[in-house]
Amino acid sequence: MPQGFTDVSGMRFDETEEQKILLEQVDRVCKELRPIEDRCYLEHRQNDEVRKRFGSAHLLGLPISKEYGDGQGVDMVTYALALQRIGREGTCVRTFFSGHVSLGMLTVQKYGDAEQKSRYLTLGTRGEKVMAFGLTEPGAGSDPASLSTSFEEKDGGFVIDGRKMWISNGSIADSVIVFAYPKGRKEGMCAFIVDAESDGFSASPIENKMGLYSSDTAEILLEGCRVDKGSMLGIPGKGLSVAYSALMGGRLSVAAGCVGVTQDCLDEAAQYSSIRVQHGKPIAKHQLVQRHIGIIAVNLEAARWLTLYAASLYQRHLEDRTDMTLRAQADIAISKAKLFAAKASFDAANRAVQVFGANGYSIENRPARHLVDTRVCQIYEGTNEILEQKIAVSVLGKDFESYS
Ligand SMILES: Cc1cc2nc3c(=O)[nH]c(=O)nc-3n(C[C@H](O)[C@H](O)[C@H](O)COP(=O)(O)OP(=O)(O)OC[C@H]3O[C@@H](n4cnc5c(N)ncnc54)[C@H](O)[C@@H]3O)c2cc1C
Repeated sequence: MPQGFTDVSGMRFDETEEQKILLEQVDRVCKELRPIEDRCYLEHRQNDEVRKRFGSAHLLGLPISKEYGDGQGVDMVTYALALQRIGREGTCVRTFFSGHVSLGMLTVQKYGDAEQKSRYLTLGTRGEKVMAFGLTEPGAGSDPASLSTSFEEKDGGFVIDGRKMWISNGSIADSVIVFAYPKGRKEGMCAFIVDAESDGFSASPIENKMGLYSSDTAEILLEGCRVDKGSMLGIPGKGLSVAYSALMGGRLSVAAGCVGVTQDCLDEAAQYSSIRVQHGKPIAKHQLVQRHIGIIAVNLEAARWLTLYAASLYQRHLEDRTDMTLRAQADIAISKAKLFAAKASFDAANRAVQVFGANGYSIENRPARHLVDTRVCQIYEGTNEILEQKIAVSVLGKDFESYS
């Protein structure tokens, strides 16, 4: 059980001394990164310093076992607290963690065999290798079961053919977790760890995104891509379970990141409004401006506690993966946290832009960046609509499932 957040009935959420020390380290790296991130964002350049700086501070392996490289073995609540801080730096910085750590390494930790864990987690936690997660395709987004990437066994290995779209870290990754069906079938999906250096693998960045300018999002082509036998991740035929399970960790990271975005919008709006003078007084003294700040503050609290509660349930699930009731509870708590926190962060960014007036419309200021960047959090790793339906079915029961 994670310390500090175990006893919800006791309603004490104090950070432990260990958490405080860790969060100070994360805060230091975040502060170092901010000017670099500002430059990369305005120049539309992927920010490789995120990997390097967090890597050299030994902070890329936070939730990964100490057995591997720089793994720190922290619990999910502590990891979520770190992601909340990282999220304040923006959705680009946090998305790197979601792709590499939450969807990539955590999935290998959960499903990999000894060889895969040693190979990918040792270097991944040190930032010497980067991971990505390739589920989405041009024709399969909310419905991953309809994907068309296929594989066949050949010469003692596998040959994979398909196209993956909108993959975070996709063109900077050294390895990508990819999902495919056996050729000619639409059942028995399998997961593979595909190295970017494999024959038949290519990736290209997606241009003209509405935001996320310093984050890499890529299209990946697998054209007769050859991988060895040991690249299959998890039980053959259970790839969809690997994907859904990975998305629990991924969604939690999005929720935590959105809490950070909301916090940053609150800080920015409070600071700007107390300095900007109109009608003879700081605009923070105008009640309608105060309303924006009050609403952001309430949503921030709600998003934070939903996220930490979901993280504590997820931690309990990881400690006992045989308890399916606990898994379902964690899954729904994470969905609620992600849905709420994503909407809250977009609303907070919108309000912060409003408080800044015309200055809010410039991407040289943080609210505008948050507004365009955090928008994706209502789309990736489960759209609002998919999560709303999932949550509704958890109330109504399986007979009310609106899609299969
Ligand atoms: C910047 C960015 C980064 C991303 N990173 C990754 C990544 O690292 N890895 C990865 O695999 N994917 C990634 N994605 C893809 C993302 O997960 C998908 O975009 C998402 O799952 C939605 O799929 P879609 O875009 O195909 O939309 P669609 O599934 O086509 O949905 C379009 C609309 O229809 C609605 N809809 C669909 N089905 C239903 C239904 N049954 N009921 C009600 N409404 C429905 C949706 O909610 C949505 O509003 C990323 C996307 C972006 C934009």
